[in-house]
Amino acid sequence: MTQIHTAQESARGPRDRMGRALRDLRISVTDRCNFRCRYCMPREVFGPDFAFLPHEALLTFEEITTLARIFVTLGVRKLRLTGGEPLLRRDLEQLVRMLAAIPGVEEIALTTNGSLLTPAKAKALREAGLTRVTVSLDSLDDDVFMRMNDVHFPVQRVLAAIDAAAAAGLTPVKVNMVVKRGMNDHCVLDMARHFRGSGHILRFIEYMDVGTSNGWRMEDVVPAAEILEQIHRVWPLEAVPPRYPGEVATRYRYADGAGEIGVIASVTRPFCGGCTRARLSSDGQLYLCLFAAKGYDLRSLLRAGAAEDEIRTRVREIWEGRTDRYSEIRTAATRGLPKVEMSRIGG
Ligand code: SAM
Ligand code: SF4
Ligand code: SF4
Repeated sequence: MTQIHTAQESARGPRDRMGRALRDLRISVTDRCNFRCRYCMPREVFGPDFAFLPHEALLTFEEITTLARIFVTLGVRKLRLTGGEPLLRRDLEQLVRMLAAIPGVEEIALTTNGSLLTPAKAKALREAGLTRVTVSLDSLDDDVFMRMNDVHFPVQRVLAAIDAAAAAGLTPVKVNMVVKRGMNDHCVLDMARHFRGSGHILRFIEYMDVGTSNGWRMEDVVPAAEILEQIHRVWPLEAVPPRYPGEVATRYRYADGAGEIGVIASVTRPFCGGCTRARLSSDGQLYLCLFAAKGYDLRSLLRAGAAEDEIRTRVREIWEGRTDRYSEIRTAATRGLPKVEMSRIGG
């Protein structure tokens, strides 16, 4: 019965003002992190006095599940857990289990820095219903990586997390590398060499002007075209067609059969036209764009006892009014606008 209801609802799921459907929900489960990556949570801003959300402000697992269920009836098929560092949230596998029980959910993925992804944790997450893991790793060189994570975290432990995810069957594991000029752009080939033939999919991400605290400058962006050229010169690449319309990463395969890579070129090749993603912050604010200045407060509705139908109607209205396409209209002027921090909504 619920399944029939879900199918019917999603058939007439909302379209935004640019005709985009709602397909993915990225759920941030905490705004805290044990890393201080300079491009995301620079220590000068996210220092010991930074006011993180108090525990009671965070959505409970039950509240997250209720909202996810509502989003699924509006067309969402894929959920991604993120943060901050999502594995800082205790018993995350319990949330995965609750989300996996929602009829209509096709994929539950996790983006993590890997620091807490032990073999036992990976296995528990997999058994609970997690389908995919993305692990972030910006370099194989400890000096560079430690400068980037700014908490002295060694490369080896992230590589162990990638192995743990693969051993638990969370394959293919995706590896996210944010490339920043003068910081780790000289590590691109090393990373490509390491992950070629491993079965893992390395994705190069252009450094983005998310939030207002990372001191972003256009000069620090390494265009995806430059990254691809570097790799192609050594190991020829062939384009792979997208798996579905609006796929964020542009895919390539090594001509010699050593696997696949991706580039996420949100600065130089924006993909707003196919953006079907909504984002839920850990305190229950709905954001319609990674670069949005404000969210819509769903937590208040939930905690005031609103019925699921009422919240569904509200989310539908919000999505139908959506006009966001920041990356397509990025200029020097838009850069100075207020924007939510990446650590609040998880990328
Ligand atoms: N803590 C987890 C992690 O690092 O994987 C999940 C949250 S993190 C905000 C999600 C992804 O956003 C990571 O892959 C991270 O490298 C990426 N990211 C953070 N700041 C970024 C920026 N300024 N530009 C591009 N990607 C960024
Ligand atoms: Fe933490 Fe991830 Fe941001 Fe790095 S990118 S500071 S690991 S949330
Ligand atoms: Fe989507 Fe906003 Fe990114 Fe464009 S800039 S792809 S609308 S999140």
